[in-house]
Amino acid sequence: MRNTRAKTETPKPLLLANIGQLLTLRSQSGHSGPRRGRELNELGTMEGGAVLCNAGKVVSVGTTKDALRDPWVKKRRKQITEIDCSGKVVIPGFVDSHTHPVFVRPRLVDFEKRIEGATYEQIASAGGGIRSSLEGVRSATKTALQEKVLQVLRDMAAHGTTTVEAKSGYGLTLESEIKSLEAILEAAFQWPGTVVSTLLGAHVVPKEFQDCSQKYVEIVCTKMIPQAARRKLAQFVDVFCDKGAFTADETAQIFESAAKHGLKVRGHMGQLTETALTPFLRFKPASFDHMDHVSDADISRLSESDTVATLVPGANYFLGLKGYPDARRLIDAGVPVALATDYNPGTSPTISIPMAMSLACTQMKMLPAEAISAATINGAWALKMTNRKGTIEAGKDADLAVFDVKDYREIPYWYGVNRCSMTILNGVIAAAD
Ligand SMILES: [Zn+2]
Repeated sequence: MRNTRAKTETPKPLLLANIGQLLTLRSQSGHSGPRRGRELNELGTMEGGAVLCNAGKVVSVGTTKDALRDPWVKKRRKQITEIDCSGKVVIPGFVDSHTHPVFVRPRLVDFEKRIEGATYEQIASAGGGIRSSLEGVRSATKTALQEKVLQVLRDMAAHGTTTVEAKSGYGLTLESEIKSLEAILEAAFQWPGTVVSTLLGAHVVPKEFQDCSQKYVEIVCTKMIPQAARRKLAQFVDVFCDKGAFTADETAQIFESAAKHGLKVRGHMGQLTETALTPFLRFKPASFDHMDHVSDADISRLSESDTVATLVPGANYFLGLKGYPDARRLIDAGVPVALATDYNPGTSPTISIPMAMSLACTQMKMLPAEAISAATINGAWALKMTNRKGTIEAGKDADLAVFDVKDYREIPYWYGVNRCSMTILNGVIAAAD
């Protein structure tokens, strides 16, 4: 079951007209590739714009005057749903390229322990952290997990997100990881947006394998990956490569298996400690995520590669950390940067990309324009989906977010409230006023 079949009916034509401020994110430099450095400021802004969509795709982008003069529009005026966007901002739907939505319960004990001073590692070694979510997922039915995921996807859409990367990773047995991926795909089938699924069997070494992690790595490589690939349950394989999780050697072994089975790779890298990234570049990872700790040598190599650095400041915020990933160092060196929520029950329980953008601006010194590019076009790069996502251009999927603000800079400015008034996912209106 693939999410592309979720669209049971062909979406009707839509015309978003009189758009106060339209951000197409179309490249001005003409350079194809993830946006780097100053390219992150290329928003392709226009006033009084219009976007015509039909059958789930963007048909044309231009002035409202030209759209209304278009013979195709004139002929079908009555069948077209016209949406007046005066005084509003329209942007490409957000691409949330890093989320962990398959879990059952919030982790409220960990939340309190952390407030009282426990560290990430202390919580994990006391049986909290990722391991404490395992029991819930292992005993849950697939239907219960699928309902959880679907609710999250709907909440995300209400905040402007139209494409979501969703990871498994709270089962950590063959059966429960496969069940998690199936739950993601079944939820995706009922949601008009686009879901990309990732097998994160290598999230942490489960307790049963604590003293023999290699045995667990073998299960990931010889059971989980082949099954996920054969049944087309995942597009990516992810590994949490860090102290207390998987070593660089184990990560390379897992990436090797993914490549052998035709799955693309991405990694949780440098969240707690620095890991040398250059050895992994031979696997052409779509993205390295977190990147709190990264060496100058790796930054210089990344600036020459298309691997995106996906920053997730929600995790730093929720963990109460003083430090954030050094976005300026990465951007100024030419590393393509994306922003994601890292939605998960332990370290980042937020579905809001505008919140992640606000944190990016205030804590990581990214300009609002850079944050918008990072959460749209570079998110699409981080999922290798730029042929369909990330900009508003003819031929691309009709994924749009309408914000009830006059200036795009207000999106990260009004933090903690939702100013998204409508989201269009593959041509379907999903969240309206
Ligand atoms: Zn994560």
